[in-house]
Amino acid sequence: MPDDEILIRGAAAVVTMDGARREIAGGDVLLRGGVVAAVGQGLATTGEVVEAAGCVVTPGLVNTHHHLYQTLTRAVPGGQDALLFGWLKTLYPIWGRFGPEEMFVSAQVGLAELALSGCSLTSDHLYLFPNGARLDDTIAAAEEVGLRFHPTRGAMSIGESDGGLPPDALVEREAAILEDCIRVVDAFHDAREGAMVRVGLAPCSPFSVSRELMRDAAVLARDKGVMLHTHLAENDEDIAYSLAQFGCRPGQYAEELGWTGADVWHAHCVKLDGSEIELFGRSGTGVAHCPCSNCRLGSGIAPVRAMRDAGVKVGLGVDGSASNDAGNLVGEARQAMLLQRVARGADAMGVREALEIATLGGARVLGRDDCGSLEPGKRADVAIWDMRGVEAAGSWDPVGALLLCGPSRVRHLFVEGRQVVRDGAMVTIDLPRVVERQNRLAARLMG
Ligand SMILES: [Zn+2]
Repeated sequence: MPDDEILIRGAAAVVTMDGARREIAGGDVLLRGGVVAAVGQGLATTGEVVEAAGCVVTPGLVNTHHHLYQTLTRAVPGGQDALLFGWLKTLYPIWGRFGPEEMFVSAQVGLAELALSGCSLTSDHLYLFPNGARLDDTIAAAEEVGLRFHPTRGAMSIGESDGGLPPDALVEREAAILEDCIRVVDAFHDAREGAMVRVGLAPCSPFSVSRELMRDAAVLARDKGVMLHTHLAENDEDIAYSLAQFGCRPGQYAEELGWTGADVWHAHCVKLDGSEIELFGRSGTGVAHCPCSNCRLGSGIAPVRAMRDAGVKVGLGVDGSASNDAGNLVGEARQAMLLQRVARGADAMGVREALEIATLGGARVLGRDDCGSLEPGKRADVAIWDMRGVEAAGSWDPVGALLLCGPSRVRHLFVEGRQVVRDGAMVTIDLPRVVERQNRLAARLMG
């Protein structure tokens, strides 16, 4: 059906992320039936035409770590300058007052923010379910916003009275956790190519659930054919806790419990040592690198250069909006590039490699062979960046300018061939109304 075609025409550059990493000057991308039909020059259509003169066209960016609910607790005064564990203790009581409406609205805000920064596919890590909140609330939000969504069913089971960090009211019984994991996988997980929703299992961290739950989750995930996700080796406190409680480093702990492999990805991994990096590379274990969060919480600089050199799959994560506090994915790509340079010098990471991590890298981490590049047959997830604005004026290389200069907001975004952002504004939801609703909820939480 030619009428279902969209031709993105005459871009300053199409960044394909194909096997040869081709960049096509004066390039076109033809979308049809939710997939990329052709990439090249001089393509034609009888369908819709989107003029892309002066624009860079990239695959939609991929976010591999987030806690969407946290958009309701940004810039909370007591958490602004605290380290990870202190920051968590400030925020737990506030999160304990959330319910289904807070989960839904905060997810819509977080997803819209991602979309406006060029993201077409995002995972989410929801690990607390107070007052009747469910994973379903965030899935409903993503359906409306129109992003491809990989929600993960998180969990905490060790509360304060058992020596854990979270208050008892925010933890669940482990049997109930596993039951709900089965429920959400059966209800929402779609293993097919082009899936808009894939569910993963994600106990919050090795310090908030038992060894048994970590192992049971891994067994269940493999039985169901879904992925595993958690926080790992985020900072020095995290390593010290692992050595004291488990008598080993986080990488070893993960390996013992079945938490390595191509169906596993870990957030942060700031403190992985050489042998853990080697283990991740060898086993195909993925990493969600969250540079802004690592800066914001003072966690350190993740050894991304060493990971990439060892063949570790690395994607980007904005992390929760309470520890960033922004959710701008193209900004995160720039930050990833800059942070490796702080650690290793100006040649440690270039724009093109950072863009690869932000697109193809993230898709690989999430097990999406059908996303992350612009090639015939891949899903029609496309970000179009207008390089004619003031922030990139005078730039000599439009692709280099995308991360060295800006813009920080996408012009158009297509997901599965459907337009989600047009001329820098959301077309799927009434964003001003959602923002107003979110601010009302935040005011109520502030009391
Ligand atoms: Zn996180």
